[in-house]
Amino acid sequence: MDNFIQPLSEEFSDIFLIKGKNNARYPYSNSLLIGDHLIDTGVSPNHLRKLKRTHPINHVLFTHWHEDHISGNYLLNNVKFYCHSKDVLPIENVEKMIPLYNVRNTPIEDDLISLIKLLRMQNIKIDALVEDNDIFNIGDQLKLKVLFTPGHTAGHCAFYELNSKIAFLGDIDLTRHPYYGNLDANLIEFEESIAKIKSLDVNIVVTGHRGIIEGKKKIYEEIEKYKLILQERGERILLFFSERSRPIKLNEFRNSNIIYRKYSAFKDFEVIAELLMIEKHLEKFLKKGIISESNNGYVLN
Ligand SMILES: [Zn+2]
Repeated sequence: MDNFIQPLSEEFSDIFLIKGKNNARYPYSNSLLIGDHLIDTGVSPNHLRKLKRTHPINHVLFTHWHEDHISGNYLLNNVKFYCHSKDVLPIENVEKMIPLYNVRNTPIEDDLISLIKLLRMQNIKIDALVEDNDIFNIGDQLKLKVLFTPGHTAGHCAFYELNSKIAFLGDIDLTRHPYYGNLDANLIEFEESIAKIKSLDVNIVVTGHRGIIEGKKKIYEEIEKYKLILQERGERILLFFSERSRPIKLNEFRNSNIIYRKYSAFKDFEVIAELLMIEKHLEKFLKKGIISESNNGYVLN
């Protein structure tokens, strides 16, 4: 068996991690295969073609609409596609990603269009919607439960197999780079979703961009680390306020390196995403009464 197809359980032989190319780094991501159900299609065209030869795929479930999780859709014919209602639009019409990333009429708009072409992405039709707590019965043994976990996108879902206690967390990815840089993201919901994941009774988790994390204690620790990153970002934003003691406008946070401590070769995109993520923190602070609006800016309470 190709080594990107990795069995996850001795007891339940139909559950596999399908590793994304380049260690599942963007623009690729991991998938989970449970029986003939595949979660996400961004492992890479080569991996997906090989997988199809040995493992029939009849159902494709999406964690969310991001390009690195749906790019292989064009290779899957005669399958049934599922996602949450709130993520249908950009999966069925990939150009709808452009306004959601807030890059319309910026230099990044062309980059994103080029990437969509390069990945040969195609629109598909969602056949059925999933909701929180839906269960897919797969074979005699497997029950895959949908966990509605919004925040990263409005319709993000994780999936949890009840008997093996294996979960696929999508882009609650437990890397050092939690992401909520699209217009339909929501930080309060993201944190609530992380809490929901933390309350699961799990043995193994796999995420879109990280391989196997095994054991309750280790999983718990990784979730705590992930939460800490969000907390530290929030603290840096509050420090920015306290160093200035006057109303701060959102735009003053541009190029602040509060989210990306160093910009990479994708700086133009990161600056836009960073500002969106900072805006998500400000929305949360407003709602929690930590800051308020004043003179077209924000002040600490
Ligand atoms: Zn994502």
